[in-house]
Amino acid sequence: MSVSNPPTPSAEDQEVSFAETALKLGGKSEDEARRTGAIDKADDQVESLFAPQYQTVNSPAHRAIWQRQVPIEEFLSTPPKPSAEVEQIMKASLDVVRRHIQAGTIENEEGRVREEVLAELGEAGYWGLLVDKEYGGSGAKFSSVADFIAQMAMLDGTIAGLASIHGCIGAVDPVKTFGNEDQKSKYLPLLASGKRLSAFALTEPGAGSDLTALKTTATLDGDHYVVTGEKLFISNILPGRTIGLVCLIDSKPSVLIVDLPEEENEQFQLKKYNIYALRHLYNRGIIFNGLRVPKENLLEPIKGDGLTIAYHGLNLGRVSLCANASGTMRLMLKGMIPWSEYRVTYSEPIGNRELVQRRMGEMAGLIVACDALTAWCADLLDRGYRGEMECIIAKIFGSEALKTASIELFMKTHGGRSFLEGHPFGDNVHDYLAPCIYEGEGEMLGMAFFKSLVKDHGKRYFEPVGKALAAAGIKRPNPLNPKHALILAGVAGPYVRWRSGRQLLGGSLPTLPDMPKPLRAHAEYACRELPKMALEIDSAMQKFQLKLADRQCRMAELSGRCQDLITILTTAMYAARNQDEVIRAAGDLACQKLRQKLTGKRPSNRYFKNITALGRSIAAGDADAETSLGLGSIDPHAILQKYES
Ligand SMILES: Cc1cc2nc3c(=O)[nH]c(=O)nc-3n(C[C@H](O)[C@H](O)[C@H](O)COP(=O)(O)OP(=O)(O)OC[C@H]3O[C@@H](n4cnc5c(N)ncnc54)[C@H](O)[C@@H]3O)c2cc1C
Repeated sequence: MSVSNPPTPSAEDQEVSFAETALKLGGKSEDEARRTGAIDKADDQVESLFAPQYQTVNSPAHRAIWQRQVPIEEFLSTPPKPSAEVEQIMKASLDVVRRHIQAGTIENEEGRVREEVLAELGEAGYWGLLVDKEYGGSGAKFSSVADFIAQMAMLDGTIAGLASIHGCIGAVDPVKTFGNEDQKSKYLPLLASGKRLSAFALTEPGAGSDLTALKTTATLDGDHYVVTGEKLFISNILPGRTIGLVCLIDSKPSVLIVDLPEEENEQFQLKKYNIYALRHLYNRGIIFNGLRVPKENLLEPIKGDGLTIAYHGLNLGRVSLCANASGTMRLMLKGMIPWSEYRVTYSEPIGNRELVQRRMGEMAGLIVACDALTAWCADLLDRGYRGEMECIIAKIFGSEALKTASIELFMKTHGGRSFLEGHPFGDNVHDYLAPCIYEGEGEMLGMAFFKSLVKDHGKRYFEPVGKALAAAGIKRPNPLNPKHALILAGVAGPYVRWRSGRQLLGGSLPTLPDMPKPLRAHAEYACRELPKMALEIDSAMQKFQLKLADRQCRMAELSGRCQDLITILTTAMYAARNQDEVIRAAGDLACQKLRQKLTGKRPSNRYFKNITALGRSIAAGDADAETSLGLGSIDPHAILQKYES
């Protein structure tokens, strides 16, 4: 999608959203209702940038729940096929990083990725992957780039993360998608070559989860905007970087492309603090004290505002995060192999023990599920879908998988050595946990997923009822009260028909493609359960009505169930389209684990037998398992504190 027209004021800008009205009716303060309404309106405006078939209500996740039949064809992603040119760039970029790792020259004296490495990556074409060819990039599809990010993460998670910071949430996506021709011609070639590396500055000391609390302002003064305010936790920030700055212009969230001065000065200072996560790049606060930015650097979306721009890039960033998690978990698994062979307790290598084998099998399952979500989401984005709900699933699953893998599987297997300096766990634990927070904390995003899920249903069936009752001044409807019953009878017909139709007819199974039996069983399970969620969600809406927004625990629980079901379906379909037996087995086991969580059923002996068998083949260095999972060559020397002195 490319959007480059000047803004047109829309009638929607003036309207009060239903979320705002509903919150007020539900007893929320004017302020909270207005703030939530603003976010809701921004969301509507993002929607309107997409053709109807690609909007949230028509997205696979939404349809899977609200339609009677899951649209199974939308869950079949195709493997990415990068062009020869793009493949060459990817190979050259991996070579740059590999060479510097071998030479021990990746990091500078502060432990951050050296600027020379970033420059060499620029020469290889790394920073221009997502920039269109006409502006000096290689125009790679996002699905190819997402897949590649997982490969890069196996070499260096920070450099993989920088691809996303620059290309997805940084300046590339905002300029490419929302810039006018002048802005694109000026910035995209610089961004593609890496002469300007970029970052995304949204978070402030007072505004993280609550984006309505933004305070940084830009005020027009002649030909420039004058920026004042403070940003916090901004990744990849050094003087001379280019940032997508979210700030308020006339109280409206807006995005300015800002070239940070080459040195700190009165108008621009960096706030340095010690932060454990992302220690290999520069994460800084930024203080603006009247920095002047040319007025032509304002991005002006056709509809919506700065949050529209931010949300667009964040979707790509969330999928990249999942890809990065998958690469990082491969690296963990790779490290577990020589260790589990080396470490002998009670006369046996620990790799011969079930508990360790189970952990390795589980890690393989998490890797395949992350790959499945990455491939599915990236493919949907390439096809033009908004993909917000799907990308949230990928972000939450990817970050939770990384958290579980690092602590439950990786750390426990390495025991005390995990905490030695030089051990990947001890050195990187904060990087393994921080994805749960950045680009939106998981549970907050889970609620956002839920709100996207219920919005259309609420507007279609509950809004008319709410409005009619509000017009009659009724706060608590009582169907036994004749006056209330009369009003309800006038407006509740469509809802009653929907609910009774759903209860009577239930869902129906789609025709699945040819696939292995265990994976088919998972796909069928998800296809049966997903439409049932519609009734569960509807019941919650009915029960809590205007108070639903306060029932965060229930929203999070329902949201989580929907996400898990969609992950099962996506993983089963991905594993089935893969001919590889190891991927299929790992996908099957990941689905079984998710089903155990959903049903509360204890794992069967068969499950333990299969997951330990998979883990055993990985622990034994079985070439098939290593190749299938793309682990690459195993380094036999990565053992700390060997027994021999
Ligand atoms: C390593 C790292 C890198 C980052 N990089 C960037 C970057 O490049 N650019 C950028 O703009 N930002 C960046 N961030 C910021 C990140 O996106 C924010 O930290 C994140 O969005 C959460 O905001 P916060 O920290 O202010 O949390 P807060 O807003 O303080 O929220 C804390 C927690 O309170 C709870 N909470 C808050 N509100 C509610 C509510 N209404 N209901 C229920 N619970 C609630 C949630 O659990 C939430 O996570 C980075 C952060 C980290 C840690």
